[in-house]
Amino acid sequence: MEQSLGETVDRAFRSGELRGLDDAAVLSLMAQAASIARRAEAALVATVAEVQERVYAAPHAERPTTRYGCRSMNELVQRTTRASGRTVGDVVRVARALGQSVSPSTGEALSAEYPDLRDAAADGVIGLDALAAVVATLESARCERAARMGADAELAASARGAGVDAGPSPSADELRMQAQVWAMYLDQDGAEPREARALRRRGLTVGVCRDGLVPIRGNALPEVAGQLRRLFDSILNPKGDGPDAPEGPHFVETDHDGPIDAVADTRSRAQRQHDAFATILSAAARSGELPTLGGSAPTLVVSVTADDLVTGRGHAHVEGCDEPVSLAVARQVACTGAVQRVTTDGAGRILAIHIDDRVFAAHQRKAIVLRDGGCIIPGCHVPAAWCEIHHVIEHAKGGPTHTDNGVLLCWYHHRTIDSSGWRVRMRLGIPEVRGPSWWDASMQWRPVTKSPTRLSKDMRARSPGG
Ligand SMILES: [Zn+2]
Repeated sequence: MEQSLGETVDRAFRSGELRGLDDAAVLSLMAQAASIARRAEAALVATVAEVQERVYAAPHAERPTTRYGCRSMNELVQRTTRASGRTVGDVVRVARALGQSVSPSTGEALSAEYPDLRDAAADGVIGLDALAAVVATLESARCERAARMGADAELAASARGAGVDAGPSPSADELRMQAQVWAMYLDQDGAEPREARALRRRGLTVGVCRDGLVPIRGNALPEVAGQLRRLFDSILNPKGDGPDAPEGPHFVETDHDGPIDAVADTRSRAQRQHDAFATILSAAARSGELPTLGGSAPTLVVSVTADDLVTGRGHAHVEGCDEPVSLAVARQVACTGAVQRVTTDGAGRILAIHIDDRVFAAHQRKAIVLRDGGCIIPGCHVPAAWCEIHHVIEHAKGGPTHTDNGVLLCWYHHRTIDSSGWRVRMRLGIPEVRGPSWWDASMQWRPVTKSPTRLSKDMRARSPGG
């Protein structure tokens, strides 16, 4: 097999022979490579199962994991195979299902959980991804082992292109679908009440950062999803119908033909919900009611070099994510008070850890809330309690943590303040906004507030009797 593997690689990558082959020959080579991969995967599963068996059987100090300095089976396999945590998770799961453990009394090998699938794997007719999907699906069905054996035999036969649905060998996705049918069949008179099952299947996972995004997946119980929806609704206020055009003598007709609210908020529903989720997390972190981590509030750590922060070039790192993030993220995070900023020099030495100096104190926040009343961007209805306080002049550029330098912005307008076209400045302690041209073609600076007390005072002043 070693030789045929080498030949296959040579033919595919090195010899340049591929160009001269017709379609059927290229596909045949592809099938041959996949067949070798399945055999190799079977060997991988078998060796992992063996190591697993040794880990279970040995006292802690003698386990292979301990001897090779790994915290878990998964880590040991990752280091040995150089595969990803996700792939190794599949291998370990399949190894558990196909491995033959040894009877502690007689020393004989016991039957594997899925003996026919084990044979199919050894014969190279079913690969790792199909095995992982089939095993995971069958494990989700609550039934006796004997009933599971039927599924094992049928699915193994199907993988060989035999059995009830005899035909060409199915792909991994087709096998997974067949396994799902089996799982439903095996489980149909499962006595477990729906709710207990739902409770067991609940979950939420935060994945690994890729291309600047971290996948979050899961299944929430109805009441948890309901609560989340209520929070979304309270933040994504249905009144969010876009800003009114600026009024008064400075108003200049813009030349766009659509209604102004058509461009007010171009976020999709999913994007708006993401931003609402960020708002909830930020509010929870600063609430003071969460358990502390190492004696302080559960704050996010963003690392950025002092130079980068001052020059505005470079990037920052968010705790737990290998990919760099923009300095805009560092700046926003540095304003919110739920964050500490670690400043390092070019060599990585920690120069300073800033926590409290840029965080607005509770009494300052109250004063700013009274003055601004909510996100100060016209047309945004995010209420004050959900807003973050933005340093109008960045702290890193000498902007003080003073009420005259802090304004309320919702998470979204805070995050996009550098790119959205909205500008904010302070004049004599009053926030002023200059809108993008679609909102105000004259691009005037205009004082803003959402504060009910200040609005009513303005109205009294404007009324004829005021
Ligand atoms: Zn806003």
